Amino acid sequence: MGVARDETTTSNAIGYLPGTDPKAGAILLSAHLDHLGQVGDGPVMHGANDDASGTTAVLELAHALASGKPHRRGILFVGYGSEEMGHFGSAYFAAHPPER
Ligand SMILES: [Zn+2]
Repeated sequence: MGVARDETTTSNAIGYLPGTDPKAGAILLSAHLDHLGQVGDGPVMHGANDDASGTTAVLELAHALASGKPHRRGILFVGYGSEEMGHFGSAYFAAHPPER
């Protein structure tokens, strides 16, 4: 069995809730958007747990934190793409953090 290496693209999904103090920095809440499922005849990697549950938590936190009082720090909500295939989304995010 050979290994196919096709070039493709991936995306991160990013939301930002501004804080009241621009000098206070930002908090990062993240999960990853992809999952492996079953690779060949190997075990099934259940996407509901890895990482749809994390993505759901980030979305629910975004809703809850945006619904309450303003926060001093900004809050970044990020869903990384292509984590399971080599951490490409988070590596790109770390190398190219969003500017405020
Ligand atoms: Zn994972």
